[in-house]
Amino acid sequence: MHISAHRPVSLFLLVLSAAAGCSSGTTAPAEDAVLTTLEIISGGAQEAVVGAPFPEGVRVRALDQFGNPVAGQALEARVTEGSGWVVDPSPETGANGEVTLAWYAGRTPGTASTLRLRAGQVTATASGNALPATPGTSHRGHRNFVEYIPGTLPIVITAPHGGRETPSDIPDRTWGTTVMDTNTDELAYLLADAFEARTGERPHLVVLHLRRTKLDANRAIQEAAQGNPTAERAWREFHHWTETALERVEADHGEGIYIDLHGHGHEFQALELGYMITTADLNRSDAELDESWAVEKSALRSWVARTGRSHSELIRGETSLGALFEAEGYPSVPSPLNPTPPGAFFSGGYNTGRHSCRGGEPICGFQLEVNQDVRFNRPWGTAAENMAAFAEAHARVIEAFLQLQLGIALGGD
Ligand SMILES: [Zn+2]
Repeated sequence: MHISAHRPVSLFLLVLSAAAGCSSGTTAPAEDAVLTTLEIISGGAQEAVVGAPFPEGVRVRALDQFGNPVAGQALEARVTEGSGWVVDPSPETGANGEVTLAWYAGRTPGTASTLRLRAGQVTATASGNALPATPGTSHRGHRNFVEYIPGTLPIVITAPHGGRETPSDIPDRTWGTTVMDTNTDELAYLLADAFEARTGERPHLVVLHLRRTKLDANRAIQEAAQGNPTAERAWREFHHWTETALERVEADHGEGIYIDLHGHGHEFQALELGYMITTADLNRSDAELDESWAVEKSALRSWVARTGRSHSELIRGETSLGALFEAEGYPSVPSPLNPTPPGAFFSGGYNTGRHSCRGGEPICGFQLEVNQDVRFNRPWGTAAENMAAFAEAHARVIEAFLQLQLGIALGGD
């Protein structure tokens, strides 16, 4: 009944608008051109590796009832099925009535995403299939700014602050921190290689190659990209691929660990382990850190119930990461030896907050801030030597921690 009542009203409106259009003329008015068709010219069915951009854009043309192109037509572009994403959700056709849209494969291999284009009642759809990623293969995103090297271990490492590329078409960020974490991109590869040497398998690795002056992938998008569309696209790629990796780990293993890799310039030479627990809170007693308000904001929150250990034990007890790193000769905060930071301390940023135990899921993690003694040339070794030694220790520590806390065996000796 709604439908039959609706149709005459629409016709009536059309008649009214036609009448208004011919008020002064004596000849029959030309029919107004209206958009009637959105036509996918190319790119309507594509494949790409999980989380990657599709190889070509979706080229779409807007046509009126006479078959002429409609220039300046605003469209709405939305991914209606699957976990892909489109770069520009509100594109507009050019003088030729065409626009080309970049979009991305979803996070789950073997699934399709649907991109729906709409202008009023006129629609068109494109579909894109997500292919499995090959472990150990480097996948690059738009203009190679973001790199994803998939793995098979229940470990995801992201490196947001070690990039060195400074494309001139992305303006420098004008507010927030722009200091790069020197050598952390190189260190990220070494950490991954050390796991492979030890276990025969690799962790998932996501690396940003843009310098922090151009994009800070460890901030919310406004501060991260400061309105630049190219930087915003790289930011979305970075997090889409990080989530792709986390979902892969969950599908393959059910649980795992997330590590956001950084380098700090603080004077006190220790690894800083950021669990989203600030210095003020680390200055509290273990009993206070075990209270629910502290657990709820912790990057290890779902592991308290999972492991049956107290929160304070997990972050600074004898079985904590800090304790295991110190046993390898790397002073750490927090740890049994350094339960509270003696000075400036990074407690975990955007990535750790976003990707650790997200939605109560079982992949928790931390922000790993590596001190300069590990990343720079020192009397006892070059930067390359110091980082290689740390990478081996890091693989042993993470393997031991996963075994000790979660019963996960990585297969190292
Ligand atoms: Zn950093």
